[in-house]
Amino acid sequence: MPYQLPDSELNLRERLYFPEVIQGVGIIMKQFLRNFFFGRQKDPDVLARDRSLSQNATIAYPEERVPYPPAYRGLHRLVPREDGRPRCVACYMCATICPAQCIYIEAGEYPDDPIEKYPVKFVIDELRCVVCGFCVEACPKDAIRMDTGEHAPPSYTRAAQVWDEKRLLRGPPVSYQNDPWLRRGSPSISPEKLQEMRARAKPFPLNATDEYAQTPGFSVRALASEAKGK
Ligand code: SF4
Ligand code: SF4
Repeated sequence: MPYQLPDSELNLRERLYFPEVIQGVGIIMKQFLRNFFFGRQKDPDVLARDRSLSQNATIAYPEERVPYPPAYRGLHRLVPREDGRPRCVACYMCATICPAQCIYIEAGEYPDDPIEKYPVKFVIDELRCVVCGFCVEACPKDAIRMDTGEHAPPSYTRAAQVWDEKRLLRGPPVSYQNDPWLRRGSPSISPEKLQEMRARAKPFPLNATDEYAQTPGFSVRALASEAKGK
């Protein structure tokens, strides 16, 4: 429905023109001075800022950063096991489902473990990635996540956006009680380490939550509230 605008006659003050110009300049100056002196409020949650001081809702990025929402799909990471090796068993399911075909994997076998495979090469071209999250959903080992809360950093070269297994393998380790290397043991893991990993293992979550990582100390929501408290 169109707005109904009043179509009244101009009064004498409006017809004189200059009083209206001066009033307009006054409004602009008031806004300018208010934003100039009170504009840089630090609260990254722009809606929580004191609106009586400033209507300024901009963020001085990158000095100020807004935490991404809990379900944000950030940069990928390869989830490590407690012994520092990747949880990935190089099954190619993420590479197969990836609609952008930006995951490249080369599988290898641990020399000290005849059963387990691992990715000798695991490369993601973050520039081709369409951030759909299918790789995370498809992974049967919870070995790849997008819970870093980061976006791809800017770079001058295309090659810098191609992340290999060394850059991708990061973040807190994860162990589940049904991990095969924990259930049957592995020659590549010492008995003491195996004991420790078994003690830390959690049941595999049946339902994904917005805190998908379910890793203590690695919560995007905790990061958001921490940033808010600053
Ligand atoms: S998020 Fe989507 S496009 Fe990006 S690597 Fe995963 S499956 Fe491929
Ligand atoms: S990240 Fe997951 S889906 Fe991809 S190859 Fe490794 S185990 Fe398979």
